Amino acid sequence: MATSPAPIFDKILIANRGEIACRVITTCRRLGIATVAVYSDADRNARHVRMADEALRIGAAPAQDSYLRGDTLLAAAQASGAQAIHPGYGFLSENPEFAEACVGAGLVFIGPPAAAIRAMGDKSAAKALMQQAGVPLTPGYHGPQQASAFLHAQADAIGYPVLIKASAGGGGKGMRKVEASGEFQAALASCQREAQSAFGNQHVLIEKYIERPRHIEIQVFGDMQGEIVHLFERDCSVQRRHQKVLEEAPAPGMSTERRAAMGKAAVEAARAVGYVGAGTVEFIVGPRGDFYFMEMNTRLQVEHPVTEMITGADLVEWQLRVAAGQALPLRQHALAIRGHAIEARLYAEDADRGFLPSTGRLRHLRLPQPTPQVRVDTGVEMGDQITPYYDPMIAKLIVWGSDRDEALHHMRHALAQCEAVGVTTNAAFLRRLLGTVAFTDADLDTALIEREHAALFERNATPDDASWCMAAAAFAQRPVGVAEDLADPWSPWAERDAWRLGGHATRLLEIECNGQRRRLGAQWRASGWRITLDEVEHAVRVQRSETELRADVDGHQRRLRAIDDGHALYLFDGNADLRFALHDPVVEADQPAPEAGDLVAPMPGRIVSLAVAPGTRVTRGQPLLVMEAMKMEHALHAPADGIVRRYPVREGALVAEGAMLVDFESDPGELPPQPV
Ligand code: ADP
Ligand code: ADP
Ligand code: MG
Repeated sequence: MATSPAPIFDKILIANRGEIACRVITTCRRLGIATVAVYSDADRNARHVRMADEALRIGAAPAQDSYLRGDTLLAAAQASGAQAIHPGYGFLSENPEFAEACVGAGLVFIGPPAAAIRAMGDKSAAKALMQQAGVPLTPGYHGPQQASAFLHAQADAIGYPVLIKASAGGGGKGMRKVEASGEFQAALASCQREAQSAFGNQHVLIEKYIERPRHIEIQVFGDMQGEIVHLFERDCSVQRRHQKVLEEAPAPGMSTERRAAMGKAAVEAARAVGYVGAGTVEFIVGPRGDFYFMEMNTRLQVEHPVTEMITGADLVEWQLRVAAGQALPLRQHALAIRGHAIEARLYAEDADRGFLPSTGRLRHLRLPQPTPQVRVDTGVEMGDQITPYYDPMIAKLIVWGSDRDEALHHMRHALAQCEAVGVTTNAAFLRRLLGTVAFTDADLDTALIEREHAALFERNATPDDASWCMAAAAFAQRPVGVAEDLADPWSPWAERDAWRLGGHATRLLEIECNGQRRRLGAQWRASGWRITLDEVEHAVRVQRSETELRADVDGHQRRLRAIDDGHALYLFDGNADLRFALHDPVVEADQPAPEAGDLVAPMPGRIVSLAVAPGTRVTRGQPLLVMEAMKMEHALHAPADGIVRRYPVREGALVAEGAMLVDFESDPGELPPQPV
């Protein structure tokens, strides 16, 4: 049967933003489909807006005023003459009312039928359905009874540890692991509270907690003719807070038989709800390979590119064709796995501070150059803003190799090339993760990150002496303000080599890097810089271009990626990136003295809990408060040993960015350097 050569759609609207919107546009361009982007006030100049053929404003920055406004999105689609809406992931992608409203407005919803979304939207109901369809389930209770004594008895019968989940849950929210019967009631109450606030529904289910499990999911695809195929598995075991960090396909160690069994179970799950379009059936897998249905995500998944890399299929093209009524491009027997693919999610977040999202302008951004082995999906470019309103993802790096080792090699190389100035990223954390023996040897399970804690969260990579010397010379050589204004570029006064009349003056530089502060002397000689560090003299020459630093330290010549943004000098060595800041006593004298460690809200959010009573003495690093922002809970920690004098906020309060949250007094001499 020949596939229809007819155009799929003339024009579609993409009801999303960021990298997924850009990724959908890329496929549409290739297929000659015009694209309409939508944007909130925070995204007026966003990359997806720049890439689309047209773009319409849909409201203010908060998602509930823009990307979650179904009515506005439908009106935009109709005004632009789009025939279909692609919902991307997140936002309204799994909202059955929105899917229905699209159809009601005469538009095609590029996703499954509303009934299938509804059937899978509630984890308890979905499990009941799957039981009927003969799909293996995690042992547990997923029925309607919700009395706490009844649930407690169920948990006792299942045997600890158990996991309490919100039926309406997603994104790891509300989930509580309970180790023993005595902890059950408190965990239940806290799960119900979080479920009520996040999903407006406190219904829970209880599952046996599978020890050392892997998360393996199956990509499925259905068409309107009733054909359903699977496109193999993805291993998403490397998680933090039940959220995926690294994903790969195929799953290491997967046997042909188990793949066939899991694929069959996933296809049956999809068939049971009349599935059409792209979907993912998630399984939890025990150490012996026993697998259990967890949930179905009725949309395209963030990690879909690894499947594309190993199958050669463009899943967005498949979605478009299927939504237009065409048959699936390939049948099961024509699908095969080629090679190995890995995805890493590059986030604007501080892994060392509990993965706290980081916001700000990307003053510098470098991502790997795409090649046939390296794909980069991103929604931002240098100069763009990471705002507190949406997911702080910067990019997804997806690599392909003929086998896992080759893919790992490409990923290491790709991560080494990532550079960002303006926000903190998880690049160094990802590099360390890739470097663990556990990941390299594919010894995967969902606790990998916790287990490797010591290796992954070593904050203070201290630079070697040569790096300190390079930084000192680079600072000493910084162009002096006056030289910029000189009309005659050939004037000796425009030279930037710090040559000076009469003698060898030594400049004292106080430089800080990763919490360490050192004093260096810099003296200019005809032969270059003499840098003194700990009473040792080093002969140093440096030459800077916009993104590079060529340095010679005692005859050892090096070329490094470097950015000087006027505030700090960043040396990117492809490993632990170094940020050197020069302490200028004159400038610092003009700054207001830092408040003794007042803790302010790093972004707008809601206060979840206060950790200690006012007046409590705490030690550095102790959690002081939990706030929820950007869909996640974040703990704020004591910056030093000291005393919590008072909390100017209450539990449940909504706070603005910069709001004071803890009145904290650090012990004398304990205040660490303020972040610049
Ligand atoms: P996945 O397996 O695809 O990551 P999850 O169930 O873990 O799916 O998460 C739900 C989806 O919502 C994810 O695709 C996630 O990236 C997306 N998401 C989370 N926060 C936001 C946001 N602020 N804006 C848009 N999408 C988001
Ligand atoms: P969400 O909707 O938040 O994605 P899931 O049910 O998909 O919720 O579970 C998210 C993650 O929680 C899984 O990827 C896995 O790491 C962990 N998890 C879920 N169920 C279990 C279980 N029964 N035992 C152990 N870990 C589990
Ligand atoms: Mg899930």
